[in-house]
Amino acid sequence: MSIAQNIQKIEAAIAPRAKLIAVTKTKPVEMLMEAYNAGFKRYGENKVQEMVMKYEQMPKDIEWHLIGHLQTNKVKYIAPFVAMIHSIDSLKLLQEVNKQAAKYNRVIDCLLQIFIAQEETKFGLSEEETKELLASEDFKTLKNVRIVGLMGMASNTDDETQVRQEFKGLKLFFNQLKTWTVDCQLPTVDLQELSMGMSGDYLMAVEEGSTLVRVGSAIFGSR
Ligand SMILES: *Cc1c(COP(=O)(O)O)cnc(C)c1O
Repeated sequence: MSIAQNIQKIEAAIAPRAKLIAVTKTKPVEMLMEAYNAGFKRYGENKVQEMVMKYEQMPKDIEWHLIGHLQTNKVKYIAPFVAMIHSIDSLKLLQEVNKQAAKYNRVIDCLLQIFIAQEETKFGLSEEETKELLASEDFKTLKNVRIVGLMGMASNTDDETQVRQEFKGLKLFFNQLKTWTVDCQLPTVDLQELSMGMSGDYLMAVEEGSTLVRVGSAIFGSR
């Protein structure tokens, strides 16, 4: 199947519950243009440098999602154009996003990355750290970021039961946190999006409440 057909198939399977982010890391601009010419405009990259390079070469009506670990010193390169940052894992990073967004008079949509996997290598906040961050006085001063949801990466395992449990756990926390943030009346928090699910598990993720799936190899082939 072609790239366009793969996208069509996945979108049909997840609509209307979730939106597709096509993960294009390591793939050439020609492949992105194939998807773009078929009308697709939502792309995810995990590295700042690669995203900037593709942003410069591609049409400007694209939604760029930063899905990988983000270093504070690189925020400035994506601040002018990034649509959403999925990988906020510290107050320090959020403060830098806020500072850079302010330079461009922007409010950048952000997701807090929550640690849900069994592995030690994955980035992310614990549930406790998430509440601490949102309750802090420092957070309340940030006017150029909006927390629109949570992101999680399940364990890299074939054990479907475990992956489903991790998705269920994140959805449960999402619901609890939503109630809590509404009670706290935090004006820059509006939890709408739950970013979970990749090529191998996006259908399961949507069953468990995902609103944004990040799919790469199932569209563009293996890397
Ligand atoms: C690469 C990547 C994906 C997509 O992975 P596939 O298995 O190719 O679908 C999703 N999320 C993040 C954070 C990634 O780095």
